[in-house]
Amino acid sequence: MNPRGWCPSLYEPMESGDGLLLRVKPAAARITAAQARILAREAARYGNGAIDLTQRGNLQPRGFSQETARLFAKAMVEAGLAHADPTVERGRNLLAPPLLGWDDGIAPGTEALIEALTEAMAHWPPLPAKFGVLVDGGGLLPLASESSDVRLLCRAGRVDIRLGGGDAMALCTPEQAVEAATRLARHFAGLAPARRMHQAVAQHGAPAILAAAGLSPLVDDGPLPPAPHVAGVLAQRVLGVVAPFGQVTAAQLEGLANLAERAGDGTLRLTPWRALLLPGVTAAEEAARLGLITVMEDPRLRVVACTGRPGCASAHADTRAAAQWLAHRLPPRLALLHVSGCAKGCAHPGTAPATLVGTDGGFTLIRGGRAADAPASAPLTLEQTLAVLDPT
Ligand code: SF4
Repeated sequence: MNPRGWCPSLYEPMESGDGLLLRVKPAAARITAAQARILAREAARYGNGAIDLTQRGNLQPRGFSQETARLFAKAMVEAGLAHADPTVERGRNLLAPPLLGWDDGIAPGTEALIEALTEAMAHWPPLPAKFGVLVDGGGLLPLASESSDVRLLCRAGRVDIRLGGGDAMALCTPEQAVEAATRLARHFAGLAPARRMHQAVAQHGAPAILAAAGLSPLVDDGPLPPAPHVAGVLAQRVLGVVAPFGQVTAAQLEGLANLAERAGDGTLRLTPWRALLLPGVTAAEEAARLGLITVMEDPRLRVVACTGRPGCASAHADTRAAAQWLAHRLPPRLALLHVSGCAKGCAHPGTAPATLVGTDGGFTLIRGGRAADAPASAPLTLEQTLAVLDPT
């Protein structure tokens, strides 16, 4: 088993219930249709063809052996989707605006900052595997809802710097931003045992960490807004396609690549919202025919499910199959159902109006709580669960 806190990379696959999984991190949230086809083909050839969309805007194909993972990694480097140096690849954790280069509302200089920061990050000291940086530029789909260890927001003539958690921020010029982020990363590297910035902030305070990196802290207590809705044809001629329960198949990815090439700008954009964006595509029918979510009314958007069986060795249930069955039968007033394969609740750490937790005897139901909370029921079948959720 992988140790707690482990995070897979392309060269360091993670053991799971359906074999090894690994992570592909497209640069600047963008993958060309040709690269997507290669990734889909190799994921089906060497893995089991299931590909998770992660909340860091990465692609996570599954079902590899040690040998096929190695062959897949080689193919990704050849396709220009990964760095050949495993150390550099491990640290390539930069979340970028998904519509970079398409959305004119993104602040000028955002793309240049991402390029310069990517280059600088290759020389940062070794950091915990989950440590990441977010660069936002506003526009149609800002990344304001997303947390990160270091967050940079490009504005006209300035960059706002925030940390993961805390009530302070700092400002710098665009020319100073790479150096400022580098100083923060170097300072954080000396703050062990903190593995994420929010832990360091809880211990030392955001003002002290910013000041130690040579920045002048300012008060900032703005909460993160909710994530945007991205299913369907959006403004600026962009099609948003949400992956049901966070996963696509290789065939679906290949179908989207063909659509992007034929009707769009030839790229697919990665988001932290378990969705892909296709700039220039203005019709949703083809993506819907692939089984993907293209309307906000799709009932699958009201169900969150973790990997479950067979992908997770800890799971007591096939969560995605249960979620799929329940999604089309849910009572209309239920805003969110969380289906978890065990009490860990990976897919939704927060509370939900209803949470189902897999056990060896069925699902237990928790109302208004988290997966780890005490259940309100003995284990139920799916039909019994539905009868409890919708007694009418
Ligand atoms: S919640 Fe449990 S079953 Fe689901 S992915 Fe996490 S560990 Fe696995």
